[in-house]
Amino acid sequence: MNGKKISKRLTRPVPHVYIRGTILTEQRQYVTVSDLVRVHTCPVRFYYERKEPVFESDRYAVCKQLSYHLGTPLDAEVIWQEIIAVSPVLDPLLKDFLALCITACNKSEWNAAVQTDVKVVSDKLGIVGMIDRIAADGTFSIVRAAGAMPFGTYVADRLRIACIAFCLEEMTGSEVKGGCVEYIPDGVSRIHEVQPRDRRLVIATLHKIKSIRNGDMPQHPLNAPCNRCKYKERCESSVGKRLSELL
Ligand code: SF4
Repeated sequence: MNGKKISKRLTRPVPHVYIRGTILTEQRQYVTVSDLVRVHTCPVRFYYERKEPVFESDRYAVCKQLSYHLGTPLDAEVIWQEIIAVSPVLDPLLKDFLALCITACNKSEWNAAVQTDVKVVSDKLGIVGMIDRIAADGTFSIVRAAGAMPFGTYVADRLRIACIAFCLEEMTGSEVKGGCVEYIPDGVSRIHEVQPRDRRLVIATLHKIKSIRNGDMPQHPLNAPCNRCKYKERCESSVGKRLSELL
């Protein structure tokens, strides 16, 4: 009897090794939707900051907490107490920003969420993201701390919606036509229908990330937001150096 027990134990390491092998295979480096957007905005900046932690902005902390209450009465004091419970060192002046957001949001009707912070994944593309709010009718939305454009949605937000659509389609097996972007400071919810160009942009950006992860220095993009970037001098000197090398 004892001998049998021992031999069983001895055979366990084989499937264990196999299981470990499976786990290692699954430890693929997924791209977060926020990284994908950062690379789209400027791959050079992403390259410079690729080893630094990313923190959410104070304004986002306010808008995100408010979003949990959309579709119900927005009580400034209740929401503020939740905000400082999550971020105790937040600047108290942001309470005024919260008041502005509530005034803006009270001008529109909002669907209450039946689920919040739902993780979505596409194993095919290696993308992982988060849906901020899902309504009872199955529509989803993402929360933004930026003001809305007069019409349409920012490219970065189109990318976010397209990434989530890719993930949801893989998870549910059904086509996802689009989703909403909720611009909390303006109290605007805008539907974006995913276009083929959005899907192409996701795939092109994934290629760029892969190349950066392989150690390649990305090209300086022509339309990057350099004017408000802290790396302006660094980039200008490196581009200048490359030009001087060419001459
Ligand atoms: S200066 Fe321009 S190119 Fe350089 S990291 Fe900033 S945005 Fe990108």
